[in-house]
Amino acid sequence: MFDRDYYDLLGVDHSATLEEIKKAYRRLAHQYHPDKNPGNPSAEEQFRRITQAYEILQDAQKRAAYDRYGASLGRRKFTGFREPEEFSPGGDVYNDFFGDIFEDFFGVRQQKFAKTRGADLRYNLDVSLEEAAFGAETEIKIPRTTVCPVCRGSCCFPGTAPVTCPLCKGFGSFHAQRGFFMTETTCERCRGEGKIIVRPCSQCRGMGRVKLSRIIRMNIPPGVGNGTRLRMRGEGETGRNGGLPGDLYVVISLKKHPVFSRSGNDIFCQVSISLVEAVMGGEIEVPTLKGKAKVKVPAGTPEGKIFTLKGLGMPALQGAGRGDQKVMMKVEIPNRLNKRQRELLDEFNRLGAGGGKSRSKSSASY
Ligand SMILES: [Zn+2]
Ligand SMILES: [Zn+2]
Repeated sequence: MFDRDYYDLLGVDHSATLEEIKKAYRRLAHQYHPDKNPGNPSAEEQFRRITQAYEILQDAQKRAAYDRYGASLGRRKFTGFREPEEFSPGGDVYNDFFGDIFEDFFGVRQQKFAKTRGADLRYNLDVSLEEAAFGAETEIKIPRTTVCPVCRGSCCFPGTAPVTCPLCKGFGSFHAQRGFFMTETTCERCRGEGKIIVRPCSQCRGMGRVKLSRIIRMNIPPGVGNGTRLRMRGEGETGRNGGLPGDLYVVISLKKHPVFSRSGNDIFCQVSISLVEAVMGGEIEVPTLKGKAKVKVPAGTPEGKIFTLKGLGMPALQGAGRGDQKVMMKVEIPNRLNKRQRELLDEFNRLGAGGGKSRSKSSASY
């Protein structure tokens, strides 16, 4: 019974030619491939079984051994059949038709030795409003793991190499035929990887990677704001076994500014003017992102009046143009008057000039 299982699985005769076996396997592998049957464990199991059958039957030597000893080998494990080198996709059929099927399918088993892309990293960068407005160059220190400089990621002590796991013979797991079912157990010795490291690298303790801080120079482009993500390609974690490195995402967080607040591309500030400046007008100094600017305040400027300084806001991150700076007037009302000041204000009041009427009119217009 056992000696017919592999032929039955592929639906071919004992006398099938290699071509017929290949053809049968291609057809079934397409049908049961896990990608085509997501979340279907029985298809996956079937795929596993036909693949195992195919691996034996496509190889003349293994097929002959299977034909002769099939049943007894079935009770043992078939793992002895294959060498680890032959396990990875090697034959033309594999490459031509199934590309990375086997990489996906056996990915878990080959974890440590498989090519994997490094993880992306996130770095939060605090930026001042001035830096955000005009751009800046800065240095950031990124703690990240990188390929161990001693073993270059091989995890092995220099001069040594991983050896085939003696327990599973490099297969990573054990298949056993129990009645009609095939069971698979991961090898405990190599944790399914098929290889073991006899003498681990002392620098990285066999991890292949070490934590190192790295200083990266970067440009903050003008116009960034809270939450802007800047991607730095390839500056993330190192990939494994020659896999591509991940990316670094620098996420901008705007520091609170003592004078300005920001809304979109506009910035706001308050400027205090004296009662006399508000009433009689004058020239005042206003802070901007680029130093001080002089602004003319017209006579009769009420509290809360907003002046717009065109183009003195933030630049647009994408595209052209700049926002404005809005300046809100805060009129300082003296709360302590000396005798003489009181007399003068009394007199001003008696004259009735610039009375409440015109004042309320001007505030109504804002
Ligand atoms: Zn190392
Ligand atoms: Zn093993």
